[in-house]
Amino acid sequence: MATISTLAYLVAAVLFILALRGLSHPTTSRQGNQFGMIGMAIAIVATLFRPGMAPGGIILILAGIAIGGSIGAVVAKRIQMTSLPQLVAAFHSLVGMAAVFVAAAAFYSPESFGIGTHGHIHGASLVEMSLGLAIGAITFSGSVIAFAKLDGRMSGAPIIFPQQHKLNAALGVLLLVLIIAFVMNGNPVLFWLIALLSFALGFLLIIPIGGADMPVVVSMLNSYSGWAAAGIGFTIGNLLLIVTGALVGASGAILSYIMCKGMNRSIINVLLGGFGTDTSAAGAGGATADHGPVKAGSPEDAAFIMKNAAKIIIVPGYGMAVAQAQQVLREMGDLLKKEGATVEYAIHPVAGRMPGHMNVLLAEANVPYEDVKELEEINPEFAEADVAFVIGANDVTNPAAKTDKSSAIYGMPILDVEKAKTVFFIKRGMASGYAGVDNELFFRPNTMMLFGDAKKVTQEVVQALQK
Ligand code: NAP
Repeated sequence: MATISTLAYLVAAVLFILALRGLSHPTTSRQGNQFGMIGMAIAIVATLFRPGMAPGGIILILAGIAIGGSIGAVVAKRIQMTSLPQLVAAFHSLVGMAAVFVAAAAFYSPESFGIGTHGHIHGASLVEMSLGLAIGAITFSGSVIAFAKLDGRMSGAPIIFPQQHKLNAALGVLLLVLIIAFVMNGNPVLFWLIALLSFALGFLLIIPIGGADMPVVVSMLNSYSGWAAAGIGFTIGNLLLIVTGALVGASGAILSYIMCKGMNRSIINVLLGGFGTDTSAAGAGGATADHGPVKAGSPEDAAFIMKNAAKIIIVPGYGMAVAQAQQVLREMGDLLKKEGATVEYAIHPVAGRMPGHMNVLLAEANVPYEDVKELEEINPEFAEADVAFVIGANDVTNPAAKTDKSSAIYGMPILDVEKAKTVFFIKRGMASGYAGVDNELFFRPNTMMLFGDAKKVTQEVVQALQK
């Protein structure tokens, strides 16, 4: 039985790896998801049939699956795509808390986990347990703050006070000392002191980070939750938990790196906070400075210009996601193709609010994958384009990233939309984007603003194209 269960764990681990591989590209992401689901089903069944599993334990696990699964299904159905980052943060907090509970269970009932007897737990198990406990508690409180900031339940602005980094460093050292002392004598008071200090540290580490950096933080907390699970996997001697935890830990860390690269920010810079400190509170969307008049057009004007265009590049951003304009956008693209134009979609790595946000929405609207181009591939093409149709995107087109060293987005690679003959910006008003930075492109002579909700404006363009 033990061999079958180990084999089943191996199959599940391979399926998890295939899932990650599948999720790395839109064409294979659905299949990746299916691999993940099958892998998890195998892992659960194999755990239920593990040797030594008491019937009471099986009932508890099934009850947990029923309750947690039902809540998860309802939340997944209700959640808006734009709220996914905060949902992920909320779920991570649960992973962190679970690690704390498992550590406590292992500490108070070591016999059940085969790691020694009460008061005589193996030294190695105390190390793994305390690491799982500390990382789990930091993940919990850090994720709760990330959730509150992303969901607008607390201000996205960084909370900064004097000597903050020194205090955090001192608490980090104290935590290390407590862990060493705990491993040496297994004292329950030390166990709970580690938990308390880690909860406080998670809170203190995340409050100085600005809302604009929060998605990176969520991804990092995702990574921490993976390492916490791996630590607990060692404690309870569960191979699959170790492998899965390590996969989550590594992929979360890689994702944080990719996001930082996309925004040209160093991870250390993100962790030390400060981005979005002044006027650029995340999502605040302040008004732009006065650069002179803008040229506003109508959907009919846009339809007329695009009917006569040979090459059109569509640049989707966060506003398209908010307006859920992807379906009608694809209809517009199809109509323009029928008119003989080449239509492509340009994806910036951090467009929207999470990595792959735009890819998912365009795939949902059945935009052909071959029409979707990444930044490096599409940028040289803007100079040959007649029209750049920027729909709900802002920061990812802002040339301040190239020219203004004082700008919060300086150094971020951007889509060179201004090189197209005509640039349409579809947005509701003159508000700035997530980073709170003015975009002088709105005032350029080759720009035409199409003011209104992205879906409504695009619907009107479609109607005008059909006339
Ligand atoms: P953005 O700079 O946030 O701009 C979105 C624009 O959409 C806003 O200026 C807004 O202007 C407009 N908008 C909002 N609702 C709309 C609606 N219903 N209809 C039409 N327009 C609407 O978006 P982005 O260009 O996609 O850039 C993404 C930003 O998020 C970057 O700063 C990036 O660094 C940050 N970020 C992304 C990630 C990620 O992983 N993708 C992670 C962290 C941070 P109006 O209010 O005037 O309409």
